Amino acid sequence: MTLYPKFSKKRVGPNVICEQRLLQNVSNLILNTDTCTGCGVCAESCPEEAITVSMVGATKREKGITYATPIEIDPEKCSYCGVCQIMCPFNALTLTVDGVERLPILEKEGFPQWDIVADIDQEKCIKCTICEDVCPRDAIIREVPEFEGEMKEKVAAYDRGEIDTQNAVEVYKTATALSRVGRYQDAIRAYDQALEIDPRNPLALYNKGTALARLGRYEEALKAYEDARAIELDETTLANLKKYTAGKPRYEALKAKTTFEVDMEKCNVCGICGTLCPSITVKRKPFTAETGKVEGDVLFDETTCDACKVCVDACPEEAITVTREVEDKKLEGEVNIDKDLCCTCTWCSTNCPTEAITMEKLFEGDIEINPELCPSGCSTCVEVCPCNAIYLPSPPPASEMRGQQEEKIAINKDLCILCGACVYACPGEDIIVLKRTGLRMKGPETDLFKRIKEKLCTPRTSKVKEETAGTTQIKVLEST
Ligand code: SF4
Repeated sequence: MTLYPKFSKKRVGPNVICEQRLLQNVSNLILNTDTCTGCGVCAESCPEEAITVSMVGATKREKGITYATPIEIDPEKCSYCGVCQIMCPFNALTLTVDGVERLPILEKEGFPQWDIVADIDQEKCIKCTICEDVCPRDAIIREVPEFEGEMKEKVAAYDRGEIDTQNAVEVYKTATALSRVGRYQDAIRAYDQALEIDPRNPLALYNKGTALARLGRYEEALKAYEDARAIELDETTLANLKKYTAGKPRYEALKAKTTFEVDMEKCNVCGICGTLCPSITVKRKPFTAETGKVEGDVLFDETTCDACKVCVDACPEEAITVTREVEDKKLEGEVNIDKDLCCTCTWCSTNCPTEAITMEKLFEGDIEINPELCPSGCSTCVEVCPCNAIYLPSPPPASEMRGQQEEKIAINKDLCILCGACVYACPGEDIIVLKRTGLRMKGPETDLFKRIKEKLCTPRTSKVKEETAGTTQIKVLEST
């Protein structure tokens, strides 16, 4: 009876573990199904053809939920060489020998590695939230002291959908945290939620006004401020309001200086500015026959002003000028890219306002999607694309649509990394054509690597899939 090698396969949480047990050692190939996108690069690279791609990659999968595996590994065919780990663009595979991460292929004959170019110039970076918001892989690590602690936790809980939407205080605090990190749209939504529970919350109304003003939505901001002021405040609320408006941590961190000027030649001391803003006090002198007209002063507290410029817009005499000078336009801290998570889609570098990010794609080449052949209503490729590069175009206005076909599917090639997940997922024939021309890898060009490179760079197209007992499997996926 042959005892060795022994093979097994088991699932532990999000991981599928293939095991080869020899007399001398135990090798494990571990697939993280949370991270795997079903792109098939491992299957195309495996020298033993031990991996097949399944259609379950064709749904966007959420962390923490157990799904069927996007790829199937045959533990008996696998030689536990580690090529798939090296080639996976999403770091979904890990090979261990006796519990230690090892890559036998490197030890035996060498193999190139991905040459990942994904860097942030800290001098140019202004630590804004854009790259973090647009990254489809959560690969941005933003460590800015001001946003640490409770504020950061609240924002993270909001992103995970973990705030108690029935708890007005929690929702309000979350809204404030979102506003402080510059996510005004989300903050407005959260303030609205807080106001649904407690419509007479002047702080939520006031802060919503400030978030609206930050987005330039001054009319709505004025309405929110007006609503806030229409509420009769008890002493505690008033004190809280003043306390809140006295502290503008984000601008303090930016060392901002606000100047407020009123042209008293123009000012008619009507007091609209003071009614709208707690930083402005308008003091009228007693009316006397001696002067025959209303006179007074406009006083301003720069420590509580957040330069929303509501007063500038509201002044009927255009008498107010507000300027804000930011001495140091950068927040302290660092923003970095987690290269294990980054797939080089370039969403971050494309959108960085200061061009602080350098990024090169892993694959070179081209991809085409033929929308004419797309079956109506299918958005499988949109769902599966790990880079959010494929989208359903917004329909043009009905007046422009006359006689025209609605565009079904489109791809932003600048954001596509040519991983091929869509090619495997597409249920139709010849709809998607992927042509890779190069891989950004460095290291020894071994014969094995040359063969893999040739395979990965052979043009391929989506083929019809065959339904089998509940799962859909690839029937044919061959070179064209
Ligand atoms: S370890 Fe080697 S043989 Fe096994 S699945 Fe990965 S590439 Fe194929």
